[in-house]
Amino acid sequence: MNEDTKAVLVFSKDFSTHSYGPNHPLKVERLQLTMDLIRSYGLWDTSDTPWVEAKKAEEQDVYLIHSEEYLEILKKANTGRTPSNALKYGMGSGDNPVFSGLYDWSLMVTGATLECIRQIRENDRDIAFNIAGGLHHAMHSRAAGFCYVNDPAIGIARMLQEGLRVVYLDIDVHHGDGVEAAFYNTDQVLTISLHQHGHTLFPGTGFTDEIGEGPGLGYAVNVPLAPGTGDELYFRVFMEVVPPLVHGFDPDVLVTQLGVDTLESDPLAALNLTTNGFIKLVREIKSWNRKWVALGGGGYNIMNVARAWTWAWAVMKDTDIPDSLPEAFIKKHRKELGRIRTLSDPERKMNDAMADQAEKLAVSAVERIRETVFPLIGV
Ligand SMILES: [Zn+2]
Repeated sequence: MNEDTKAVLVFSKDFSTHSYGPNHPLKVERLQLTMDLIRSYGLWDTSDTPWVEAKKAEEQDVYLIHSEEYLEILKKANTGRTPSNALKYGMGSGDNPVFSGLYDWSLMVTGATLECIRQIRENDRDIAFNIAGGLHHAMHSRAAGFCYVNDPAIGIARMLQEGLRVVYLDIDVHHGDGVEAAFYNTDQVLTISLHQHGHTLFPGTGFTDEIGEGPGLGYAVNVPLAPGTGDELYFRVFMEVVPPLVHGFDPDVLVTQLGVDTLESDPLAALNLTTNGFIKLVREIKSWNRKWVALGGGGYNIMNVARAWTWAWAVMKDTDIPDSLPEAFIKKHRKELGRIRTLSDPERKMNDAMADQAEKLAVSAVERIRETVFPLIGV
């Protein structure tokens, strides 16, 4: 292991004390499972300080993005009882259930993201990873898509107060709508989201003509992709759009949302990536050598989450790890693993008709972005 690598994990054992409920797709236990695999590979920083402990965010941090009335509802919902007007704020539905400790959970996740920023800014780290973060759908006064408090947006807002310019890159399968909305009118944050097309997936937004407003015109970028899009096409589109924009904008800090609901076996979406394809993206991001706040995100096949984010953490630490999963981990999680024994996935080939359609959509999205956004950013 390269002990000089300045990467740090921010985590809290308290993450596991909360639950969205037994039938909800977001399984909080995926976080502990990921930490289990990270530990099995010996990827702790040291045996004494396995991770930097997250602290809860303060109420004033939440106000950076969310309204006072919404915050009051979140606090009431924290009891586990559904406030009478919860639905108006997106809560109490199947997607965003009210559960005991909901507000505490949100503050803890947000606090972990803020701690990542502190590690980058004050502790001379190059990379800080909060696997619980990336809750990108929460809006100013509304919970959405399993997200109550928008930790990436709050972190970015905090950095804006310091005069920093930020790129927010979102590779979750869903459009990063909440973060985009928070910075739609500013040229200090460039938001880039690659996702499954809004006509076929929640939240139904993120089209190429959403490019920001006012001073923010050109500073929101959306790359919608067709169901079935696989590793090769995704990577090609990513390379054509993302590095030119990131290097053209030249941010002080890069924030990434690394959702892995893009993987083929994810139950909620229909892109066709493998863990290997995901890691190729992480390696590319790492190669930019920028100050990097890495956040988790979606991922509803929990063994995909554990494998992809463990592998990503190894890349962040410049550490090679064996593809075969450690025996101790296999023994402990045989049931959840099924036939899986490796970090990597078998290569997958798209069927020709789907591939053709996906290619067409991707090419037209790239062309459109080159025409509309590249000149505004000065690429
Ligand atoms: Zn997602």
